Amino acid sequence: MHAAKGILTTRGGMTSHAAVVARGMGRPCVAGAGGISVDYNSQVLAAGGKFIRAGEVITLDGATGEVFVGSVAMIEPAMSGDFGTLMEWADKHRRMGVRTNAETPMDAETARKFGAEGIGLCRTEHMFFDPQRILAVRQMIISNTESGRRAALAVLLPFQREDFRQLFTIMAGLPVTIRLLDPPLHEFLPHQDAEMQEVADSLGTELSVIRQRAEELSEANPMLGHRGCRLGIAFPEIYEMQARAIFEGAIAVAKETGNAPVPEIMIPLVGMKKELEITRAQVDKVAAEVFAETGTTIEYSVGTMIELPRAAMLADKIAEVADFFSFGTNDLTQTVFGLSRDDAGKFLPHYVEAGILPKDPFVSIDIEGVGEMVRIAAEKGRRTKPKLKMGICGEHGGDPASIAFCEQVGLDYVSCSPFRVPVARLAAAQAALGVAGDRTA
Ligand code: PEP
Ligand code: MG
Repeated sequence: MHAAKGILTTRGGMTSHAAVVARGMGRPCVAGAGGISVDYNSQVLAAGGKFIRAGEVITLDGATGEVFVGSVAMIEPAMSGDFGTLMEWADKHRRMGVRTNAETPMDAETARKFGAEGIGLCRTEHMFFDPQRILAVRQMIISNTESGRRAALAVLLPFQREDFRQLFTIMAGLPVTIRLLDPPLHEFLPHQDAEMQEVADSLGTELSVIRQRAEELSEANPMLGHRGCRLGIAFPEIYEMQARAIFEGAIAVAKETGNAPVPEIMIPLVGMKKELEITRAQVDKVAAEVFAETGTTIEYSVGTMIELPRAAMLADKIAEVADFFSFGTNDLTQTVFGLSRDDAGKFLPHYVEAGILPKDPFVSIDIEGVGEMVRIAAEKGRRTKPKLKMGICGEHGGDPASIAFCEQVGLDYVSCSPFRVPVARLAAAQAALGVAGDRTA
């Protein structure tokens, strides 16, 4: 994906991993274009009676999902002139904050240039794919002993510490929400024999052992499987390493700049209060250890994603142990509808065409159903803690109509990928002024 100028896939949808990662990187991505077919043997892409051969140029609009044959004239957006003035006006009128979803220094810097007021979601799993780290990640997963996992995690710790140090530096003085590991471990496993052999060699084991472990970890329904806080509960050492990296990174910045960042540590896929209690206790324990070791104490908070119906319905109880909520409306849409976010792209267009749904609910929040769940959770959360900080970090955080809904519910901020920050600033102002937020308005 780093090498690509744009990404076009036949499978997936708006919130598929490919689409989310591409959006963060500023690469146009059209995921789930079910109307195209790719013949790998003849290297031809067929769509709407047209045939495009490997090497021919196409242009993608990642916002509308359009694919054009040939190259289209484009201009580089810049925050200057009339655009800059419009953004200043927007900032004067909006109530909600606008943060960004970012995990690399480049994304964080881009988002700052576009006016982001902090990070609302740092998906730490994206930091695990770096070529220098993936071997240690795989060693950690393959190992079936705690000591083996800890040895691999010790290799990852300095990388993660440096990641966080850089993000805290770029976002100086602004909030940074870091989410602990979320996806199922098998996502990081090697698929090809050569990669599996590399892991086997590094661990002094057989290829067959790696294959077997990969099989053990594979799940029929990974999106509802061993992911999110369920990982942190089964393998506490993973969350411990990440929490340590966050605190050590933050203290390093505090010492360098005299300006201590206030990390917001976020636990994913919580459905039960007890899950948050246990994972929060792990984080607090690591904080106390690092503060004692360094002789420095910093402020921090621990909160949770609200992205499962159970969490939304029991938000008053969960709020007892959460310092903040961030609505993960990608998973919430998936689980409220019972729709796979990776497969729905194939049939949702028919639903929109047939008038069953006004829009793809992964693009623009389904106010009636998913929105109701958000509203209930926000109210319940505030009943327990009237000042509970609440934001949204699902892809809807960059969609004007969804932003208008967030204003109505009284969320404190929206968080979206860097390139959507200006749209979010404008939409937040329109929402505060009571103007219907729509990109076409
Ligand atoms: C979400 O579910 O809305 C979310 C932000 O998390 P992710 O997309 O990483 O699952
Ligand atoms: Mg999620």
